[in-house]
Amino acid sequence: MHELGIVFSMIDEVEEAAKQNHAKKVLSITLEVGEVSTIIPSYFEDCFEWAKKKTDYLQECKLNIVVVEAVSYCRTCKKTYPTTKTGRSCPYCGGDDTYLVSGQQCEIRSIEVV
Ligand SMILES: [Zn+2]
Repeated sequence: MHELGIVFSMIDEVEEAAKQNHAKKVLSITLEVGEVSTIIPSYFEDCFEWAKKKTDYLQECKLNIVVVEAVSYCRTCKKTYPTTKTGRSCPYCGGDDTYLVSGQQCEIRSIEVV
């Protein structure tokens, strides 16, 4: 359940932003989570619902999770493609000199405050 640690650091970041903007409360947070990140959205939501009750600004906050497609890049044929869950091989040339371009992130995309 490393989700809880991530939830707390996200809440810290959001509360800090709310304070700096002299907001009264945070209405919603939109979080981008990569398809192959280690976060399980349903766990994350459960942790958030529990943790937000301990905050000053997030009592009524709604969490939106946007799952971002994972994309890989092949150095051999210089193509990008949706990351396959079965392995690291490129679907175009079969090579394995590939790396993940996106899909592991866990980032706040936006917050809505009043
Ligand atoms: Zn390739």
